[in-house]
Amino acid sequence: MKTESENILKGIAAAPGIAISKAFLYTKEKEEIVNDPITDVNDALQNLDTALQQSKKELRKIFSLAVDKLGEKRAAIFEAQIMILDDPILVETIQNRIRNEKRVPEYIVNDEISKYTDLMNLSHESYMKERSHDIEDIKNRIIRNLKKKKWKSRITNDVVVITTTVTPSDTVLFSRVNVKGYVTDFGGLTSHAAIVARSLNIPAVVGLHDATNRIKENDQIIIDGYKGEVIINPSVKQLQHYQNKIDKHAKEDHELIKLRDLSATTLDGKEIQLMANLDLMEEMEFIVQNKAKGIGLVRTEQLFEVYETFADEEEQFNVYKKIAERIYPEIVTIRAFDIGGDKVLPVDLKEPNPFLGWRGIRLLLDNPQLFKTQIRAVLRASSHKNIKFMLPMISSVDEVRASKEIIDQCRSELKKEGKQFDKHMSVGIMIEIPSAAILINDFAGEVDFVSIGTNDLIQYLLAVDRGNDIVSNIYQEFHPAVVRTLNDIIKSGKKTKTPVSMCGEMAADPFAVPLLVGFGLDSLSVFASAVPHIKKIIRNIDFKEVELMAKKCLELKTEKEINNTIHEYYNKKIKTK
Ligand code: PEP
Ligand code: MG
Repeated sequence: MKTESENILKGIAAAPGIAISKAFLYTKEKEEIVNDPITDVNDALQNLDTALQQSKKELRKIFSLAVDKLGEKRAAIFEAQIMILDDPILVETIQNRIRNEKRVPEYIVNDEISKYTDLMNLSHESYMKERSHDIEDIKNRIIRNLKKKKWKSRITNDVVVITTTVTPSDTVLFSRVNVKGYVTDFGGLTSHAAIVARSLNIPAVVGLHDATNRIKENDQIIIDGYKGEVIINPSVKQLQHYQNKIDKHAKEDHELIKLRDLSATTLDGKEIQLMANLDLMEEMEFIVQNKAKGIGLVRTEQLFEVYETFADEEEQFNVYKKIAERIYPEIVTIRAFDIGGDKVLPVDLKEPNPFLGWRGIRLLLDNPQLFKTQIRAVLRASSHKNIKFMLPMISSVDEVRASKEIIDQCRSELKKEGKQFDKHMSVGIMIEIPSAAILINDFAGEVDFVSIGTNDLIQYLLAVDRGNDIVSNIYQEFHPAVVRTLNDIIKSGKKTKTPVSMCGEMAADPFAVPLLVGFGLDSLSVFASAVPHIKKIIRNIDFKEVELMAKKCLELKTEKEINNTIHEYYNKKIKTK
């Protein structure tokens, strides 16, 4: 038996909660191809067919996006890949070999397609060598899709997933098979996978570096998503300690339920609008139960992640309508697709710097059809007048004007078609790029509201990748530049009478809330399960006091000084209540 400290791994606490369960090693990075025999040929052929169809759907989705921006010629790469998938000779050869050799399909696919790439790599022409990468890509896509099915079927019951990295779509996939927690080697607090884990209420610890080496399949794991610790094969004492903690948290949650019907009002009577973010439809009832005062952010790209092609107008309309009706009379803020960065399709477009690349409003303005489909669906769902529309990744007034022009076109079209919609639907923007924060006064009059996206704002302001644990220590919410920028945005909103809210993860940080309220922020949107806890914090704040504390923080020059000031206030005034 190891000593107690030897079996504890420390990482970043990415989603709160404690789970005790068996480890499941999801080592997808190692595209290991085993030459295993099979017994059920029909099942293997069926798997092959499903994987080919899935690969085709994925490629069509990428092609439809890429064609406008990259032009027919460069986007043709994806079309060529689709053609390879349709090549009857290749498909038949693979099928025949599965029948004759009775080997797993991924082995045959790898062997068969590698014959082509090996030949191409022998060529002296650079064109041929380049094309071989495309064929390699398609091979890996098919193998990935063949394996996905296998992974899914292997996770039968409650496990903690141990992996190098997870994508937001992995997280969604796992939620369907009742995963108890996530442990990853890489990743940061505000990576989208961590955000989805929080939405699904699944504890997660990320950025452990060597978790996949230290943890073995079926090890018993305790995951502490509050402290960012993972315990491998715990001692009886450790198990007891955590069992007590689970009981304590259950009691606290029970206490918080009592606050449900009370408002998020400070001790001296300032009411804060406390809304929730929605990433997945699964959260809807939870948001309603927790009595959030509306939805401050719907990450639509996340909602439709599971769709194999882009959701059409009708599909989107139905989803938006459902959300708007369920939250009525409260308001829902629907954000336009923020595709790119670490969400949805970045890998396939092979951008060298996806977070600085084709993302959010940039991609939408380059794909007017995709953008218009969404705007029309949102407008049509707005007939009860409780929808606001929000634009992501705005960096200039030009982008706002170009977007509003498209929104106006959609309004005229719908009017002509005699369709119902809210003619005065508010249109706002995310403030998540430093240029937008600098131009904050100029957006007044151009937009109806703004919402601060701290996840990106901090990343871009400090030039620190939000998903990279190696630099997570310098991804700082309380960096003086961040703190002062937030204050500037909030104060500008007051001056220009533009409503300001915050929907980044900072709004759900109990330590940050007194500071934000102190700056005068009166609207927050947090992940659904954080609503009761943040409400409790707000109800223990004295506005006059936090105003002074916030003012003091503006004069401090280092993150440490600000952090200490905030913690001092928290420990003295909030924790003890
Ligand atoms: C943000 O950047 O803070 C934000 C809310 O948007 P997302 O996390 O989806 O990038
Ligand atoms: Mg963002």
